[in-house]
Amino acid sequence: MKRNVIIAMSAIIIALVAFLIIRRKKKMKYFSIKELCQSEVAEQYNIDNTPSEEAKKNMQRLIDVVLDPAREEFGEPVTVNSGYRSKKLNAKLKGSDTSDHQTGNAADITGGSVEKNRKLFRILVKLGKYDQLIWENGGEWIHVGYRETGNRHIMLAFKNSTYTRIDSNWENVINS
Ligand SMILES: [Zn+2]
Repeated sequence: MKRNVIIAMSAIIIALVAFLIIRRKKKMKYFSIKELCQSEVAEQYNIDNTPSEEAKKNMQRLIDVVLDPAREEFGEPVTVNSGYRSKKLNAKLKGSDTSDHQTGNAADITGGSVEKNRKLFRILVKLGKYDQLIWENGGEWIHVGYRETGNRHIMLAFKNSTYTRIDSNWENVINS
């Protein structure tokens, strides 16, 4: 009787471990905080781009909720052009004072071509996890911002230094 209990318990433990391994494999990890903090400009000009604990938390959320799921669905490599920007780096890059890059809540990403970015943009729209989703420079890259709370769900196109709302006609805009 005692032996049967031990066998049964062993079986349960093995099943549980197998379940955890399979589940872990399913949830692929693609992006890292380190990757989001890398910046050629920061290196070139020796600008400190070390994030605060708060910014790290924000980046991890952006990765878990937006970037990793989108990359999984995309099925191809995605490059981060710019993620976290310290105040100094943001100023050097002439970014907006209110840029979500400064809090670790945004990333500029690309699949490598306008065609691939169309596919990536559609995936991000479908996922629906964004504060601002921006089709940049005719699709050269995509800006995606995601906040802990109060996401405004704004879709924009940025071209010739101008932002345009594209919430209702984004399909046409990204295909043009
Ligand atoms: Zn951006």
